[in-house]
Amino acid sequence: MSLKILKFGGTSVGSAEALRRATAIVHQELPEGGLVVVSALRGTTDCILDACAAAGRGDLVTAQALLTALQTRHQEVAGELGHLEDIQADWDPLFARLDQFLTGMAMLGEAPLRARDGALAVGETLSAHLAARCFGGSFHEVREVMKTDGRFGKARPLLRAIREAAAPWRSALSEGPLWVTQGFLGSSPEGVTTTLGRGGSDTSATLLGEALGAEEVQIWTDVDGVLTADPSLVREARPIPQMSLSEAEALSAFGAKVLHADSLAPGGRAGFRLVVANTHRPGASRTEILPVPPARPAGAVTSV
Ligand code: ASP
Ligand code: MG
Repeated sequence: MSLKILKFGGTSVGSAEALRRATAIVHQELPEGGLVVVSALRGTTDCILDACAAAGRGDLVTAQALLTALQTRHQEVAGELGHLEDIQADWDPLFARLDQFLTGMAMLGEAPLRARDGALAVGETLSAHLAARCFGGSFHEVREVMKTDGRFGKARPLLRAIREAAAPWRSALSEGPLWVTQGFLGSSPEGVTTTLGRGGSDTSATLLGEALGAEEVQIWTDVDGVLTADPSLVREARPIPQMSLSEAEALSAFGAKVLHADSLAPGGRAGFRLVVANTHRPGASRTEILPVPPARPAGAVTSV
C-alpha cells in the first residue's frame, strides 16, 4: 500500500474552525489511512518560550500566568470541538509536566536548552492528542522514531537510526490505520527529548516520509503553495503549480519562507512527491515539488 503523509502547521490547527477544516482535508486525502504530523497550536511555541524565559529569570509568577493562559486557550478549543472531557486524561499530565519544568527552571534561575526542549514538547504533544481525536485517528509518539543527536534546541536527525526505529511504523501503517504524531520533536541517543529548531515540523514530515517510504508528503499551510514572488512585496504573486526539488532548494536559499530549508533534502534522497497546499482554501491551487524537473513550456514563469 502506498503511504501518504500530511503535515499541518500551527495556523492550520490554531482554532476550532481551523481544526474542522483540517479534519475535512484529512478525510478527503486519507480515506484509506495514513500518517498526519501536526505542529503545536498557533502561538504555543512562542508562549512556552516566553514562559521558560520568565522562569529562567526567576519570575515564576509570569511563567505560570503564561501556562494558565495556554491551558485556557487549549481547553477552549477542545471544548468547542466537543473533546474537553475525553482529552483530560491525556492533557492533564502534560500541563503538570510543563508546570514542573517551569518550577525547576525558576529554582535554578536558568532555562537550559535541554529543559526548554522538554517544555516545548508539551505544546506539540497537546496538539497531536487533540488532532488525533478530531481526525478519528490514534496518537503515536514521534520520539520513538525521530532519533537525533544530543544538540538540544537544534538537533540533527540520525537517518539510519530513524530508519531502523521506523520499521514497526512501516509495517503497522501498511495495514491502513490513521495515525497522528508530533512534529518538531526528537529524542537523543540517551532518550532525552530534543527539538529540530524552529519551524522544524516540515522537516519531521519529510524525514518520516523518507523513513517510511511514503509516496507523497503534503505540507498544509496558510498560503496557496509556493508563489512566484513574496506576496507582501508583489501583489500579482501567484502559485507555481509544479516545480522541481532543485528549484525549491534555490528558492529557499533565497529566503522563501514557505518551506523550511532543511525539509527538502529527504525528498531528494527518497524521491517522494512534496505538495504544498492551503488549509484555509483547500480547493485553491497548490504546488507540487517533484524529485525530477517537470516538463514546462519554454519561457514559462517560475519564480522571481
Ligand atoms: N511549533 C514549532 C514552531 O513553532 C515547530 C513548527 O511549527 O514547525 O517552531
Ligand atoms: Mg509552529
